[in-house]
Amino acid sequence: MGSLESPRTAHGWAAHDGSGILSPYEFPLREVDPDNVEIKVLYCGICHTDLHQLKNDYGMSRYPMVAGHEVVGTVTKVGAGVERFKVGDCVGVGCIVGSCQDCNACTGDMEQYCSKKRWTYNDVFPDGEPTQGGFADIMVVDQRFVVTIPEGLALDAAAPLLCAGITVYSPMKHFGMTEPGKKCGILGLGGVGHMGVKFAKAFGLHVTVISTSRSKEKEAREVLGADDFLVSTDPEQMAAAAQSLDYILDTIPAPHPLDMYLPLLGMNGKFILLGVAPAPLQFVAPNILLGRRMIAGSFIGSMKETQEMLEFSAEKKIECMIETVTFDYINEAMKRLEKNDVRYRFVIDVEKSNKSA
Ligand code: NAP
Ligand code: ZN
Ligand code: ZN
Repeated sequence: MGSLESPRTAHGWAAHDGSGILSPYEFPLREVDPDNVEIKVLYCGICHTDLHQLKNDYGMSRYPMVAGHEVVGTVTKVGAGVERFKVGDCVGVGCIVGSCQDCNACTGDMEQYCSKKRWTYNDVFPDGEPTQGGFADIMVVDQRFVVTIPEGLALDAAAPLLCAGITVYSPMKHFGMTEPGKKCGILGLGGVGHMGVKFAKAFGLHVTVISTSRSKEKEAREVLGADDFLVSTDPEQMAAAAQSLDYILDTIPAPHPLDMYLPLLGMNGKFILLGVAPAPLQFVAPNILLGRRMIAGSFIGSMKETQEMLEFSAEKKIECMIETVTFDYINEAMKRLEKNDVRYRFVIDVEKSNKSA
């Protein structure tokens, strides 16, 4: 039985091909099934993954594509089976909106590693309809993939926590990067990296930013609280810092030689890949085996962990440093993100965009 209501429409901004250029786009809004929550989008962060996907960096993009997976909004409708949320609640949605609920990853609160996970956009629902993200005024999402935004967080600055925040929080918890005094390198000071500095400091780590230029040093130290700053293009500085770190979180979004950075790790040091370079990364074996070092990777975090990270952020007053924009600036924002010209995350003010449209 279909709904008697006429189909409703969502208004977003979509790319239609690998140029990644976004333009206004209307698409049918999904029905609010018993397990669904309808969310009026207030803010949506712009992650570098959005840029990768919009530009078809991995050769698997589907168009028209409404990107956006750092979503904060208010609940406008709930399905009959929804008990965790009510109309008016302030909620968030991140990178995934579905998983099988049955595999070891799903039953072990690690659904982000489910092989049948459903991406927030650039994916399809079981009925074959495309998933569409938060570069839109409204979303309908399975309640299992919705989190509560705790009181005390500014909603715009909280939006990037849904991806950038959880992407650093999860490996920090998993790899034991919560032991005060341990030395952590943050490679690439962008959206994900600057959250890495903030969470690492909150866990009491000693933080070294490893950046391509000096331009972010003052802010990294004085505003973000980094303890040290290494310029990766300065071979002398890099050599002097050899074996000084216990961990490196690598957030670089482009191909880069790992051999430049692995020697910074001490014995048993862990190099954790977070960036999704669209080409193979290379290193020579001695840079791993001579220090019994480890290269690992991590992908966002579970829903449970995302909720925990949000509570932790509210308690420790951790927010993202953002530049708020409206949809009419989105193509410019994408160009600037590509040029590494944002401190440190663009966030779209969706409501304001729609009022001024
Ligand atoms: P971003 O804001 O663009 O930041 C990336 C930073 O990396 C830049 O600010 C820059 O920092 C450095 N960088 C950029 N190009 C570089 C190059 N060619 N060589 C060396 N350094 C370079 O991007 P983001 O949103 O933080 O995302 C970073 C990566 O993480 C992307 O690949 C994204 O897809 C991925 N990601 C992964 C997950 C996950 O779950 N694993 C989640 C979110 C994002 P400096 O100016 O300091 O050099
Ligand atoms: Zn992201
Ligand atoms: Zn599963």
